[in-house]
Amino acid sequence: MSSAEPHRTRNVAILGSTGSVGRSALEVLREIDGFNVVGLSGHSNLELLSEQAREFQPSCVVATGPDSDSGFRLDGVGGCELLSGADALVRLATREDVDMVIAAIVGVAGLESTWAAVEAGKTVALANKETLVVAGSLVMPMAARTGATILPVDSEHSAVFQAIQAGRRNEIQRVVLTASGGPFRDFDHEQMKSVTVEQALNHPTWNMGQKISVDSATMMNKGLEVIEARWLFDLSPDRIAVMIHPQSIIHSLVEFVDSSVISQMSPPDMKLPIQYALTWPDRVPGPSPVVDWTKTLNLELRPPDFEQFPALELGFEVAKSGGTSGAVLNAANEAAVAAFLNKEISYMDIATSCREILNNHNYEPEPSLESLMEADRRARL
Ligand code: NDP
Ligand code: MG
Repeated sequence: MSSAEPHRTRNVAILGSTGSVGRSALEVLREIDGFNVVGLSGHSNLELLSEQAREFQPSCVVATGPDSDSGFRLDGVGGCELLSGADALVRLATREDVDMVIAAIVGVAGLESTWAAVEAGKTVALANKETLVVAGSLVMPMAARTGATILPVDSEHSAVFQAIQAGRRNEIQRVVLTASGGPFRDFDHEQMKSVTVEQALNHPTWNMGQKISVDSATMMNKGLEVIEARWLFDLSPDRIAVMIHPQSIIHSLVEFVDSSVISQMSPPDMKLPIQYALTWPDRVPGPSPVVDWTKTLNLELRPPDFEQFPALELGFEVAKSGGTSGAVLNAANEAAVAAFLNKEISYMDIATSCREILNNHNYEPEPSLESLMEADRRARL
């Protein structure tokens, strides 16, 4: 479709609408034309889910959390199907009236519904990076078979997606993912030993959900993003690099074979990558903040210290080894982050326990979805 032609209205379902990405997606959808919110899902924040449903009047709402069976009602929403439980996410993601799914559930809990959307050939705006970390080897070929379009929402991958349009696929030399470095980027080993949950959640440039905030503090987030980039852009891991960029303005860079480097820049705010996934290949005015060109803009890029951030190294290793490694790293990390948030283990224990579990698992090079789920279950234990 050429940009001169008007788009027909697209029906969007947001899986995880009550989360940080979900709420930003709704902020975008309030401001831009051509989209109709037909589905929402929430887990524990049922009050916000009801509020969102009253505002957007979707045709289906899914509540997945433990409280969703006991008396959750929707008032003031006409003709809306109210479903509960994890299975209902699959029903929402595959509904006939859904054109596009924004996959914004956190963790492996988002895999089944994202998988179902891809299997049903939907357009998927993918925030749930864990889907590709765990099952990228199966999801990407499935998308090719079903004709599903997977559009990145993760800001670095959106930046790469935008920058690669400056050349052809076979002209890409390298992809450089930027990382803020999180709250501990300038900490030494001694300081790292005593960091608290509160410090880890206090991200210097991004305001995000708890799990990804801890992942940013350990830089496991960047490790997971290396694996995500490996699958999304079909890149061998030796073509992926990471640079620390404290200002979070350059969201990533693509180096082409002629040595030219193209980057995408914007203030650190998820509304832009979400909007680009919605409107691609078009660009429209929206609610994202703009760079202030009346002020000095310092942009620093430096290589990361892998000893300071062992989780980043794990990401590269897993991107190379593939197989069941992604599922194991992801599950070990999810369990370790939950234990850290519960103050059961220390910050330093997160990467150490992931390394131990990864080194001791029964590696399978070409796993099925069932063996990935089994690897996930064992690693969590
Ligand atoms: P949040 O924790 O803020 O939100 C997670 C969403 O998932 C909420 O809607 C939550 O519901 C729902 N949820 C939680 N557990 C379950 C479950 N077991 N089953 C079904 N739904 C569940 O996370 P974020 O928005 O920060 O992150 C979402 C995804 O996007 C993650 O994969 C993250 O890595 C990725 N991402 C996030 C970015 C960000 O800026 N936040 C940037 C790039 C990627 P409720 O709140 O009602 O409990
Ligand atoms: Mg990111």
